[in-house]
Amino acid sequence: MEQRVYNFSAGPAVMPKAVLKKAQNEFLSYQQSGMSVMELSHRSELFETILSDTESLLRRLMDIPANYKVLFIQGGASLQFSMVPLNLANGKKVAYIDSGSWSKKAIEEAKKTAEVVTIASSAKNSYHTLPVIEPVTEDYAYVHLTTNSTIEGTAYLDIPLDKFNGLPLVADMSSNILSSEYNVEDFALIYAGAQKNIGPAGVTIVIVREDFIQSLPELPTLLSYETYANANSMYNTPPTFSIYMAKLELEWIEEQGGVAAIEKANRKKAQLLYDFLDHSDFYTSPVEAGHRSLTNIPFLTPSPTMDEEFVIAAEASGLTNLEGHRVVGGMRASVYNAMPIEGVEALIAFMNKFAVANTV
Ligand code: PLP
Repeated sequence: MEQRVYNFSAGPAVMPKAVLKKAQNEFLSYQQSGMSVMELSHRSELFETILSDTESLLRRLMDIPANYKVLFIQGGASLQFSMVPLNLANGKKVAYIDSGSWSKKAIEEAKKTAEVVTIASSAKNSYHTLPVIEPVTEDYAYVHLTTNSTIEGTAYLDIPLDKFNGLPLVADMSSNILSSEYNVEDFALIYAGAQKNIGPAGVTIVIVREDFIQSLPELPTLLSYETYANANSMYNTPPTFSIYMAKLELEWIEEQGGVAAIEKANRKKAQLLYDFLDHSDFYTSPVEAGHRSLTNIPFLTPSPTMDEEFVIAAEASGLTNLEGHRVVGGMRASVYNAMPIEGVEALIAFMNKFAVANTV
């Protein structure tokens, strides 16, 4: 079946059709090997080339300096909630910015192994805005922030570096890595699960400055960044097929003109939808302008019952996975890199039709 829907899922998310086609073409036999990528030994030359090409592509796309390591880890971004404090806290206090449900989870997890100070929070605001950050004056091992709050739809498109007094910055970029430009040198460590803008679930990217990788023999082997750094992410079997798919998607990003071109396209898509929401008498955006995400756009109809009807009717029209996260309700359109502008236009056309049909 060739029929594809417009998939607004927050993750695992839509992938470019060209990437899926390419994978399909070499699915049974990768480069005349007679084997699928998922059947290749991770120690084979073919796979080692896939891994090094994936890393080189990411380095080019994000302009990653030579003194940063790129690690491919399993366990999702959620495992990084634990690995970051285990590897970076060094017995010192760590500072967290609580800007949404995922930051909250990162904080809860870090509290299990480190002394956490939440230095700013917009929880009282139901995370509809970014928190107000006062300049940091105390010493912390690092400051952690989530660049894009996938559930609530806020984002730090500019990092408020002037507030952090030069402290090492750690970012969860799971839901907007490679969709907006960031300067890697602003961060000590960046992590992101792949399943939104990089490829299928199964691999998590960690970009870490070399001087933050330490030898911590008391840590379980697979929880130490040093293990991955010393073994070129091959201490044990890496998620080979996910890495291969990531390589294809990174090649696709490069073909689109790189992250700057992708960001431009994402801004255009997001603007279309926000403009429509802001001019509507029927729909509302819960997120304040200036704090809004380019990749996850929540919205509401006049009532929760109508929200439910909207999601069902949209699904029947080939616009799928628009239900908001269960903790916030309403709708959410995730418009990652692979969502074409035609998908956003189709959504807006449907929203118009639904509003007219349901306005008395
Ligand atoms: N952080 C953010 C910002 C996310 O959006 C998600 C998942 O959606 C996670 C962390 C958790 O990622 P994973 O499911 O890979 O553990």
